[in-house]
Amino acid sequence: MPVLQSLLSALYPDQCVSCDALTDTPYALCGACWRDTPFLEGLECALCAVPLPGSGDGNEDLCDDCIAMPRPWDRAHAVLAYERKARALVQRLKYSDRTDLACPASAWMAARLRHRIGAGTLVVPVPAHRLRFLARRYNQAALLARGIGAGLGVEVLVDGLLRTRATRRLDGLTPAERFAQLEGAIRPNPRRGAMIGGRKVLIVDDVMTSGATLAACATAVRSAGAVRVEVAVLARTLKAS
Ligand SMILES: [Zn+2]
Ligand SMILES: [Zn+2]
Repeated sequence: MPVLQSLLSALYPDQCVSCDALTDTPYALCGACWRDTPFLEGLECALCAVPLPGSGDGNEDLCDDCIAMPRPWDRAHAVLAYERKARALVQRLKYSDRTDLACPASAWMAARLRHRIGAGTLVVPVPAHRLRFLARRYNQAALLARGIGAGLGVEVLVDGLLRTRATRRLDGLTPAERFAQLEGAIRPNPRRGAMIGGRKVLIVDDVMTSGATLAACATAVRSAGAVRVEVAVLARTLKAS
């Protein structure tokens, strides 16, 4: 190990991204946290990424919700179930200034997406309203989008979408209330529309709950001329909440 690196690792030993346990590699989970972090695998709904019973490739299978209410996008991808340690990790990334967590999180997302999205895909994060951005100083969706872009070598358009008005936090609202809140709240950036037209777009966010925010974003990029829209989230809630 080079001298500087060994000095740094003595000063800042690698810690689990979820607890304080020491790990052998940077940005890793310790064994205990790994077992309590629910990575999604197996058959999933093609449109919202919830796990489905049975086996298959998941390219065509849909859950009951997505059959009843078609989504305005073509495919969804998620890495984690929004439960146990995964929920804590997302909350720290979102509310606790732990922007360093975007590094392992976007690496997991890039690994999930590597063989699923085409090289010409344009990555667009779910936008934060500027007031929230000022308060928090970062948009976790943009951090994840940048990490995915760097990991996969695909283009990222951080300001492809804009929030035209602040929306209150969606926690505790019913799905219908969430969709109503988001109605017309997200628009394509008028200065970026030409970069979205004719493209395959991947919209990135930290969590998908009802899908209301992602639906507003998908509708917006379609209005700007996107020819295919997929969505990718770090974590997916397993039950509507
Ligand atoms: Zn740990
Ligand atoms: Zn579904």
